[in-house]
Amino acid sequence: MMQGIDLEQADHGLLDDLRIVATPAARGLSQLVLRTDVAGMPLEWIDYKEAARLYHQEQVAYTCGSLLYELYGGVNARTGRRTVLEVNSIVATVGHTGNPGNTRHDYVPPLNNQTLFRRDAYLCMYCSQRFPSRELSRDHIRPFSQGGTDVWTNVVAACRRCNNQKASRTPEQARMQLIAVPFTPTYAEYIFLKGRRVLADQMEYLVAHFPRSSPLHARIRAYLS
Ligand SMILES: [Zn+2]
Repeated sequence: MMQGIDLEQADHGLLDDLRIVATPAARGLSQLVLRTDVAGMPLEWIDYKEAARLYHQEQVAYTCGSLLYELYGGVNARTGRRTVLEVNSIVATVGHTGNPGNTRHDYVPPLNNQTLFRRDAYLCMYCSQRFPSRELSRDHIRPFSQGGTDVWTNVVAACRRCNNQKASRTPEQARMQLIAVPFTPTYAEYIFLKGRRVLADQMEYLVAHFPRSSPLHARIRAYLS
């Protein structure tokens, strides 16, 4: 038990007299919960307020992972006891989120530098050195000037030096070699790449939903080692 605050009732209009306590596993209130559908397919990251709302709307089917939060609700008039909700790191829910990813096989996640650099494990895909985000750039393998587009399979993380050296040329023209083939993340991979602080149990859960052939398996192992 490390932290407690009063939730602003105005946030939901649903929660009377609610207090929340984060367990040591959560290390504070900013730890996000992995929401899945009832079949266990990863859907999105939610904060404890959203998790509490789902509980109150009786949309939580079951939970996995470790205990993150204890939500102390109002006193039950009949029993005189406080209601306590336990929120785990992974929450399976009924109902829909509007996220198309888990139902559409042709889903393409939005491309942005943060998820791109994570997909490539912060490695420059030309010189294979690791860099912090701020020193990486988005390289278009086939440059715009030669008909290349801004899609997952035409972009890689590249350090500034390699990007400058390659300039507006294809790797063949620049005599530079990619160390890996770029790929479009699946929905589960994208959820992982979007994560802030992914707990070990959440990571294990997400990785189990990656395609077996996903390059992320090896990259995560390498990154953690
Ligand atoms: Zn480089």
